[in-house]
Amino acid sequence: MSALAFAAERAVAIHAVLSASNVCQRVFTKLVSGETITKKDKSPVTIGDYSAQAVINSILYKSFPEDRIVGEEDSKDLRGEEGRQMREKVLELANSGLDEALTEDSLLETIDRGTFAGGAHGRMWALDPIDGTKGFLRGEQFAVCLALIVDGQVQVGVMGCPNLPVDAKDKDGEKGCLFITVKGQGAFQRNFSSTKETPISMSSIQSLTEASFCESVESGHSNQSDSAKIAALLGITKAPVRMDSQCKYCSLSRGDAEVYLRLPVSASYEEKIWDHASGSLLVSEAGGIVSDIHGRPLDFSKGRTLATNSGVIAAHAKIHGRVIDAVQKVLFPEGKL
Ligand code: AMP
Ligand code: MG
Repeated sequence: MSALAFAAERAVAIHAVLSASNVCQRVFTKLVSGETITKKDKSPVTIGDYSAQAVINSILYKSFPEDRIVGEEDSKDLRGEEGRQMREKVLELANSGLDEALTEDSLLETIDRGTFAGGAHGRMWALDPIDGTKGFLRGEQFAVCLALIVDGQVQVGVMGCPNLPVDAKDKDGEKGCLFITVKGQGAFQRNFSSTKETPISMSSIQSLTEASFCESVESGHSNQSDSAKIAALLGITKAPVRMDSQCKYCSLSRGDAEVYLRLPVSASYEEKIWDHASGSLLVSEAGGIVSDIHGRPLDFSKGRTLATNSGVIAAHAKIHGRVIDAVQKVLFPEGKL
């Protein structure tokens, strides 16, 4: 019997995401608000981002030294005297998640392995070390997201969601789950407390009136007044489930909600590939369709962003077409694209 495709990449990605998730949890318990600095785009970035990226890049490099990485962070703010305090903390935290310790120099080099420009050829990993930084800081949902893209196609996706209940029906119960997918091999959930993988799939809803949709907590990331109009047009009556990070894709893929709307708030914003690579494959493998607001597939071959797409719409395959129709009616009432 031949081994399943991408078995080694899947195993390494699981190890890397679990190690980084543990580091993130450690950072959260130690986090002091003064340790948050502000990036140009005003999203807070924490030592957790850097530590998690260092851990994952380091683990990937050991197994796949030739692979490129498109990661969210670079080491600029950790360099020089200004970055010293932060650098020392990041080094300590990153090393707490690694078997072989990094030095200050190799830490910066390791983080900067994530600066690849992306593109249509060859193998690259897309990494968001802490997706949903704002959720992370609030103690709510965030995800460590890693995907392997080969020639522009997402082939492997692994997400660690430390604060997500393992069962959505038991919100106060056990938390911490991992979502794993390989193209053509289905979608799986594994809890942090176990190595057992359970196949997951989207819910098979009978009518849109029973459906629920999810969207960003941050109204600056997705237009919430447009989503309310779209939901009304579709006959969705349940209140939106607002959640940070790619945990939205994870929730959809195990049947907690049926639709994910990410509606542009500005025409110029380009979605980042690390915000969607792993989640979009997970939903596709769980029986959904993921597209942009025009129904076009997400194109991961255009560099570090989804430059030719606008927004994201994910839904069960049975209803995706109807959701796109409603999105178009609300966003383009004159019929112009
Ligand atoms: P979410 O937690 O789903 O709201 O998404 C978090 C991600 O939103 C971050 O990783 C950012 O890369 C991304 N983001 C930042 N600004 C915008 C924007 N204007 N529109 C859409 N996404 C954004
Ligand atoms: Mg992100």
